[in-house]
Amino acid sequence: MGTRRSFIKKSTLLSALALTGLPEITKAFSKENFSGADDVRKPVVISTWNHGLAANDAAWKILSSNGVALDAVEKGVMVTEDDLTNLSVGLGGLPDRDGNVTLDACIMDEKGRCGGVAFLQRIKHPISVARMVMEKTPHVLIVGSGAQKFALDNGFKLESKKLTPEAEKAYKEWLKTSQYKPVANIENHDTIGMVALDAHGNLSGSCTTSGLAYKMNGRVGDSPIIGAGMYVDNEIGAACATGVGETVLRICGSYLVVELMRQGASPADACKKAVERLISKNPNYKDVQVGFLALNKKGEHGAYALQKGFNYALADNTGNKLFDADYSLK
Ligand code: ASP
Repeated sequence: MGTRRSFIKKSTLLSALALTGLPEITKAFSKENFSGADDVRKPVVISTWNHGLAANDAAWKILSSNGVALDAVEKGVMVTEDDLTNLSVGLGGLPDRDGNVTLDACIMDEKGRCGGVAFLQRIKHPISVARMVMEKTPHVLIVGSGAQKFALDNGFKLESKKLTPEAEKAYKEWLKTSQYKPVANIENHDTIGMVALDAHGNLSGSCTTSGLAYKMNGRVGDSPIIGAGMYVDNEIGAACATGVGETVLRICGSYLVVELMRQGASPADACKKAVERLISKNPNYKDVQVGFLALNKKGEHGAYALQKGFNYALADNTGNKLFDADYSLK
């Protein structure tokens, strides 16, 4: 969260700007404003939910040894993808209605380069395929069998399509009623989104998920979509989202959070305003959960959710800890 000092500085600046008009706000919080700052808190990494702790540990190893944010956000979320007991990220994820695990991921770096994969099956590390899309192709998003072929052509291994025992048990239970309704609890909305600021002052972000449990076959959520599930603007900040992707897609959620920071909002306020926008554009908002996380160029962070229960992990040179996010529907 922003310090009191920076809050006061910003409030004074904002009152002055209110007199001069909106275009000035963009100018005031542009590159020059951040890059000269000597009170930048870096490196720092934040990521969604409890599983963020283990992911942050891996990211922190890179960040604390002068590594770059892009490597940190890739290696960090790979830990979550590797964990087959995780029912919402990677190949251990809960399947769609037809019993297929389909994975979505995206990554973005400080140069604005980005890559994503969607509806990818039987590949262990969608985030690394996303990075390869970014680095080795002229494209941003590759999906389905094309994404799988691209992964196999580039040395990834085809994994079994069998569900893990836990996922299979849950799926069989679900089949008894086959009722589909996104639920506003944490179990079904556990994407890992991660954003980091490295010791060089550069931002990157990543996001990876098996998507909503029991979704329609072929459904893609916000997580692999640049600007929805995650967005980075190295002049301003970075943001990521978790929760019911359709509601986030409707407001280009992560992009909105970054743009609000560009206009002068603190990361926490930007996340809160994005949740308010989401409420105004999604009549079903009471039935779903969504959480946003943001980090600005100064290393200040913030989070906000629609409902109670969203938490996130933050690692910096004081340690790696979990925090509960504030929320709207009290
Ligand atoms: N955002 C993800 C999706 O809609 C779900 C999640 O956060 O767990 O696919």
